[in-house]
Amino acid sequence: MRMPTVKYQRGDTVMGRWPGSNLYYEVKVQRFDSKSQLYTVIYKDGTELELKEQDIMNALSFQSRLRSRSRSRSPGRRRSRSRSPGRSTRRSSSRTSAVTTESAPTARKELKIKDVVEVRLTPLKQTMATDSNTNNKHENKEETIAASKVNQSPASKNEMEPERTQNRYNLRRRKDDGDSKVVEAKTQLSEEEAKPATAAPASTPLDFGGKIGAYFWLLFLPAWVFFLLLQVNQDDPSLMNFPPPLPPLESFWDVQAFGIIVLWVLFQGLLYVLPIGKLSEGMPLRSGERLKYRTNGFFAITVSTIAVGAAVYQGVDLTYIHSHFLQLALAALLISFLLSVYLYARSRSAPTDQLALGGNSGNVLYDFFKGRELNPRIKNFDLKFFCEMRPGLIGWCVINLGMALAEMKEQGLETPSPAMILVNVFQLLYVVDGLWNEEAILTTMDLMHDGFGFMLAFGDLVWVPFTYTLQAYYLVSHPNPLSHLTLALIVTIKLVGFYIFRKSNSEKNAFRRNPADPRLSHLKSIPTATGKSLLVSGWWGVVRHPNYLGDLIMALAWSLPCGFTHLLPWYYMIYFIILLVHRDSRDMSECRRKYGLAWDQYCRTVPYRIIPRIY
Ligand code: NDP
Repeated sequence: MRMPTVKYQRGDTVMGRWPGSNLYYEVKVQRFDSKSQLYTVIYKDGTELELKEQDIMNALSFQSRLRSRSRSRSPGRRRSRSRSPGRSTRRSSSRTSAVTTESAPTARKELKIKDVVEVRLTPLKQTMATDSNTNNKHENKEETIAASKVNQSPASKNEMEPERTQNRYNLRRRKDDGDSKVVEAKTQLSEEEAKPATAAPASTPLDFGGKIGAYFWLLFLPAWVFFLLLQVNQDDPSLMNFPPPLPPLESFWDVQAFGIIVLWVLFQGLLYVLPIGKLSEGMPLRSGERLKYRTNGFFAITVSTIAVGAAVYQGVDLTYIHSHFLQLALAALLISFLLSVYLYARSRSAPTDQLALGGNSGNVLYDFFKGRELNPRIKNFDLKFFCEMRPGLIGWCVINLGMALAEMKEQGLETPSPAMILVNVFQLLYVVDGLWNEEAILTTMDLMHDGFGFMLAFGDLVWVPFTYTLQAYYLVSHPNPLSHLTLALIVTIKLVGFYIFRKSNSEKNAFRRNPADPRLSHLKSIPTATGKSLLVSGWWGVVRHPNYLGDLIMALAWSLPCGFTHLLPWYYMIYFIILLVHRDSRDMSECRRKYGLAWDQYCRTVPYRIIPRIY
């Protein structure tokens, strides 16, 4: 069936801009959605995307634009923009979107203005590597062929016959990468023309059980938090004692508790806006823009520790946290709900290019839950980043400290029990590490892909501080003595988990920030059509989510100090397995959508998701 009223028809072969870049690839039009005014197109590597009409050109006008472009780019006419081969390779490689270094601000600025992304590989010939494992023989062959294509004009590359190619991707050692080995298929348009394809199409498919799921989670998650707290509060928190007795509803509300939470959030907000600490750049958005974030989390936790210490010294009784835990949780829930309403309301007037790809379904409740706007900001105050890293995370440590003091009071101890100390120290280490390496969160799913709505606001302000503290809350009234051997074993497990977690997260973060980082030159990667590469060796070659593996091992070490008498202190471990398995599958679908065949290649090379040889 033809599409009579639109410019491009189903089956047309046209040139489509790659989102966030000025690169045009040959694509086939699949369909046109008159409601969103977007074309669904398919790239040669199998990636499907939705593009605006302005990001599509027919092949003829693309060719003529290329010709006029190359005339106007002759070195004599526009020296400063020369792209002659004589230009240094360093400069050339700095044009790769992901290749930005702290030490090259000028190059980065230029990159932003020109907004050019290099494609590091196009599909290779059938005669190339037939094995996903790299060896030198294969590398050499591939490099020779790739090099032979370097001098092709972009147009001629775009005319490559699909049947001449096989959709295989090259694996090679990253230190062997050089511009001469890169197949470039790029063209550059004027800044005015360089408005990338950024509109967020209507989100499909939907996560979390879709629209019905969103209703369910909105009701279930808050109820679940209160169930956990009431259950642990019992003398015998066994699941046989379900349901826990429900106190009078009016006892949940406490103005003072509400005031404390508001003050805490404001205090953290104040620390966040202080012009102290590094300004870090986020990953490029679909528009090509990179937001700046004040990454002074370590400063914030240091000042918070001093402030809390001073308050305790002045006689403030932190065991209030234990005795008013339900009231504090309700106050945090209320604040997260009000924040989510504000976030949804403001997202209604946000430009479509600033919406998250996953929270734009058109269903009010689903979008309210999932988060519509990707990076809501009040001036430079990034609401999502702030909530992810500050009030809840630092609050978690303060709550744990309050529980340790409550344990001493309740059990008449002079110091907290060894189990309580382990839980406090382990979780403090987790938070301090997260804040010390705060920049690393800028390359995570939450920051890069998820919109900011109830799911994250509730998660950050209620779920994390009031359920991740369950082990400490449990230990206040349910002591669990530990032998020296058990202590040593638990500490070892924690250290192993922490090592894997930190190393793998740092490796990916460093790679995403600067793929040319010489410290990563021993790692292998596969290029993708987006210009970004995927690590296939090092930690990311062991399993597809080594950071989840480390996190899970640490979760085990957090539950072990509570012993095996009850299931509730193991809640975090069980929940975390479910969370990370689901998160992994969300990420897999997202990466499959983004990277197409390159992602399939990665999955074949690294077959296990989280636990080597098991899952
Ligand atoms: P990741 O940090 O694992 O980020 C996933 C992204 O990394 C992908 O979307 C992709 O993004 C990129 N990527 C995937 N594979 C590769 C590869 N081979 N090479 C290079 N880049 C790759 O995801 P999360 O945000 O889920 O997790 C971050 C950390 O936070 C983890 O350690 C996790 O355990 C922890 N976490 C903790 C939680 C808690 O409650 N305690 C909750 C959730 C997470 P792209 O290609 O676009 O860059």
